[in-house]
This record gives sequence, structure tokens and C-alpha cells, in this order.
Amino acid sequence: MDSRTLKHSRQGKATGVDFRINSFCQLKYKAEREGKIYLEIGRFFSSRKTCHACLNQGDSLPLDVRSWECSSCKTKHHRDVNAAINIRDEGLGLLALEPALLPMQAV
Ligand SMILES: [Zn+2]
Repeated sequence: MDSRTLKHSRQGKATGVDFRINSFCQLKYKAEREGKIYLEIGRFFSSRKTCHACLNQGDSLPLDVRSWECSSCKTKHHRDVNAAINIRDEGLGLLALEPALLPMQAV
């Protein structure tokens, strides 16, 4: 199913998927308008259950678990903060591998 199909599913009614697709389009548009970088990380990148301190992957986390402790390094994490750090690090890693993604620098 492509984004066009998703947008027009359910007789044109807005869905959560529509909202997310539109949100990502808005983010991409605004980032590019301001000369910033918009990157998408892999859909199955495990941002929530990977410890950003030691990269240990924990078990799956139910949605109601907001904080957890890494079984390897014992770092305590807030679910969303840990995910944000992992996403940032993944993006920086992608940029390090593919510097062509960086915008042209003004001379
Ligand atoms: Zn850890």
C-alpha cells in the first residue's frame, strides 16, 4: 500500500497514517526551507529498547513502561529521551557515512 492509497482510504476520512505522512512531509519541507537536513532512519531501527549508553538491546517494552534500567550497564532511561538520543545518534552516523547528504556550505 503506498501513501496515495493510504491518503484515500476509508472514503477520504483522515487516518492516523495520513497524519503521520503529512507530519513527515511538513518536517521535510520546513527543514529544507531553512537549509537544514531531513533524514529518515530505518523503519525497524530499535530506538526505544536500545540502551544509548552501551547499545545493549533489551527486551520489548510495553507502551506503559515509561522508564527502564539497562540490564547490561544499569543506566536508567526515560523511554522517550533514550529513543531521541538513539535517533539523533543514528542520524549522525548516517551523515558520517554519507557526507554528500550535508547541505552545501556557503563560502
Ligand atoms: Zn546499557
